Amino acid sequence: MKRKITNWGLYPIQESEVFDFSELNNLASIIKGNNELIARGMGRCYGDASLSPTTLSTLKYNKFLDFDIEKGIIECQAGVTLEEVLDVCVPKGWFLPVTPGTKYVTLGGAVASDVHGKNDHKEGSFTNYVLGLSLMNHMGEIIQCGPEINEDLFYATCGGMGLTGIILSVRFSLKKIETSFINQLLVKASNLDEILDLFDKYKESTYSMAWIDCLKGGNGFGRSILYIGEHAREHELSTKQKKQKLQIPRKTPLLVPFYFPSFVLSSFFIRMTNSLIYHKNIKKTQWSIIPYEGFFYPLDAIKHWNRIYGKKGFVQYQFVVPQENGRVAMREILMKIRKEGRGSFLAVLKAMGDPNGMISFPMKGYTLALDFPIRKGLFEFLEELDQVVLSYNGHIYLTKDARMSKEVLSKSYKSISQFRQYIKFSKNKFQSIQSNRLGITKG
Ligand SMILES: Cc1cc2nc3c(=O)[nH]c(=O)nc-3n(C[C@H](O)[C@H](O)[C@H](O)COP(=O)(O)OP(=O)(O)OC[C@H]3O[C@@H](n4cnc5c(N)ncnc54)[C@H](O)[C@@H]3O)c2cc1C
Repeated sequence: MKRKITNWGLYPIQESEVFDFSELNNLASIIKGNNELIARGMGRCYGDASLSPTTLSTLKYNKFLDFDIEKGIIECQAGVTLEEVLDVCVPKGWFLPVTPGTKYVTLGGAVASDVHGKNDHKEGSFTNYVLGLSLMNHMGEIIQCGPEINEDLFYATCGGMGLTGIILSVRFSLKKIETSFINQLLVKASNLDEILDLFDKYKESTYSMAWIDCLKGGNGFGRSILYIGEHAREHELSTKQKKQKLQIPRKTPLLVPFYFPSFVLSSFFIRMTNSLIYHKNIKKTQWSIIPYEGFFYPLDAIKHWNRIYGKKGFVQYQFVVPQENGRVAMREILMKIRKEGRGSFLAVLKAMGDPNGMISFPMKGYTLALDFPIRKGLFEFLEELDQVVLSYNGHIYLTKDARMSKEVLSKSYKSISQFRQYIKFSKNKFQSIQSNRLGITKG
């Protein structure tokens, strides 16, 4: 049956025939019986990467296959979510090696986007920890790949946005933890130079990211709050915390019950909110020991927070620029945003490490993610930003994208033609609206 589906940005909306499977022979028949389809996990990519007229939900293919508690190696079917992995691993003293800003993503989605976390500058992206994958190809055959077996297929699949086949299972290594708490340090920066200096100063810290006020001008241009974190050791906990040292933090999420009206998104309102965030928070620096949930997943505490952008939805614009161009590129882009008055509630700056997959996103440098509600003139404005990103040799994150042009993709992802050649073996069986728009599959 056809139904309308959309991802986290609520744009675009696609009418799609949605299949699901829990057995591999069903999956093979679905693949053989359809000329074009794309895998879909939790739909937490923002744009159209997992949308297509025929979509294959992996959510029922969600069993744990193996967990070596001594070595911290786990194998799961691709529809298992990061939340489910945490529920099993944290009480045993293990944590995800890399986690995005939400736990509501599947392992298949984490691999296909080669997701990064707050530790990318130090520990790299998800692919670094994958020991092996199994994949179903366009003919319904199962193929194994990994860093040492079928490497080309492995590096095309990690970050390959579902275009090489259906990821069936993921075997990966976990990170040893003593507690489920994070030792968090907040540091205020009064402008852009200061925050970039702070990233440098704390480059040896495991986790870091900054919230940045993208509408403030003058001396406070680029004012930010840096969040630094380490997994807390047992001796650092209070007596009360020690009793819950490997407990999963649980909170009932608040709910955004309806789509917000447009005044909420005015630049005046965003300026006010930004000012409150900046001034409410902390002295110059502040230490605390908090459950991991608040550090890694603050947005998961609000169910359907994407509705605050209204019914038309929003675009998350995330780019990365090389380190040597970082300061000047960030300054130019933030200036443009301020001038345009297109504030973003969420503006997150992170340092990134080395690249991984054939077309995956990370690159040594700085990345900025911004939410823009869909309004008149937005796409034209983002095209201008694309040109600035291109001029500094950066690129845009495919998993957040809903509107980039194929020209921008070709100029910015150096290995895209190699990737295009590589996936020809699957005869474009796996394609999304995004891959067609970007000319990776059709066009
Ligand atoms: C609040 C929020 C915060 C986020 N923070 C970050 C962050 O910090 N870092 C980061 O890197 N990302 C971040 N993301 C993006 C998110 O981690 C990725 O988009 C992730 O891929 C979503 O996984 P999913 O299961 O929802 O997959 P979908 O959104 O359904 O699909 C994403 C891509 O994966 C492919 N795919 C999914 N399952 C399979 C499979 N089994 N086989 C083959 N291909 C598959 C799809 O075809 C598609 O191309 C964030 C998203 C949200 C909503």
